[in-house]
Amino acid sequence: MTETRTGSALGGFGGLTIDFGGTTPSEAPAAQAMRVAADEPVTARVVIVGAGPAGLTAAIYAGRAGLAPVVLGGHEPGGQLMLTSEVENYPGFPDGIMGPDLMGRFRAQAERFGSRMVDAAVERVDFSGRPFRLWADGTEYRADAVIAATGASAIWLGLESEERLRGRGVSACATCDGFFFKDKDIAVVGGGDTALEEALYLTRFARTVRMIVRRDAFRGSRIMQARALSDPKITVEWKSQIAEVLGVAKVEGLRLRDSHTAEERTVALDGVFIAIGHRPNTDVFRGWLDMDETGYLQVQEHSASRIPGVFIAGDVDDHRYRQAVTAAGEGCRAAIDAERWLEEQGVLTPEEVAEAASSSPW
Ligand code: NAP
Repeated sequence: MTETRTGSALGGFGGLTIDFGGTTPSEAPAAQAMRVAADEPVTARVVIVGAGPAGLTAAIYAGRAGLAPVVLGGHEPGGQLMLTSEVENYPGFPDGIMGPDLMGRFRAQAERFGSRMVDAAVERVDFSGRPFRLWADGTEYRADAVIAATGASAIWLGLESEERLRGRGVSACATCDGFFFKDKDIAVVGGGDTALEEALYLTRFARTVRMIVRRDAFRGSRIMQARALSDPKITVEWKSQIAEVLGVAKVEGLRLRDSHTAEERTVALDGVFIAIGHRPNTDVFRGWLDMDETGYLQVQEHSASRIPGVFIAGDVDDHRYRQAVTAAGEGCRAAIDAERWLEEQGVLTPEEVAEAASSSPW
């Protein structure tokens, strides 16, 4: 069912059409995919780019400060945790929580404090003057302050066969696709925490899980290594790389190459999960914000970028910690910095400052 409501019914989006395509009115707000189609630019105090832990935490804080942020969450809002299975180390969840459930909670909390979620990807920005301008899915957004929280995405091996068989046995998301491999033989590529976590999760479904590790050592944490190595379903192919994913209509096996001798062998299996790391989603900011040689954004002071009024949060600038909790912390910092900056610039009205003072804990 597709329902169309005008923005005025929701407040703050006067003149816009907000389309809750594919949802029903009874669905929880967090599950609604809001799309905006507007001829006029949408103006906001704060636009947050990205809807992972950093972006949504920034939205909770900015919303609570009365700034009614617009969150441009991309086409896959929720970030990497949407592709994660059980999260055991996010404080407050002693029994663990599934990544998508955690992000649903973040989103509901952001909406509770007046954030507008737009599931549109930013294609272009212009930070040459204020208000800052951003374009997403054909709509222009103008903002007094911007928080860049676009995170990082999974890296693929880059093989033609991997791409051809994606969705036919090749996946980067154990949570999404693990269920399809009940009692099957599968592989996980990579030796970091992501690969170890995926392999362990997949043992719930698969008959066997073969880890393909290109060196003779894991990169992941000791506790995860120990768990994987003691799991009877998991075996490790050390010093091995995938030369080709075999299969026509679906995955039927792998051609593996020894990292040292280049000797090749084939193994028969039904699926392969790629878990070899991440790349920051920063193309849209190229030319505007400073980046290191691998594309991660560079923060100047606290959460500030080199452009006053543009702030940075989360995995988009952090290749060291890359945790949901550190990303969330950075989102909090960026929202506080943005609010203080707006106040210093005199952009906030006295009413907004009073509102922020009464609702903000800081
Ligand atoms: P990572 O630590 O960078 O590990 C990437 C793994 O993939 C390494 O084993 C690497 O091999 C391998 N690899 C890279 N490119 C490859 C290629 N082309 N072919 C084959 N193998 C390749 O990435 P990650 O596992 O995604 O973890 C990223 C960060 O997030 C880490 O700090 C990690 O601790 C953290 N993390 C934490 C948790 C948790 O605490 N619950 C869960 C997931 C991730 P080499 O070792 O040879 O480079």
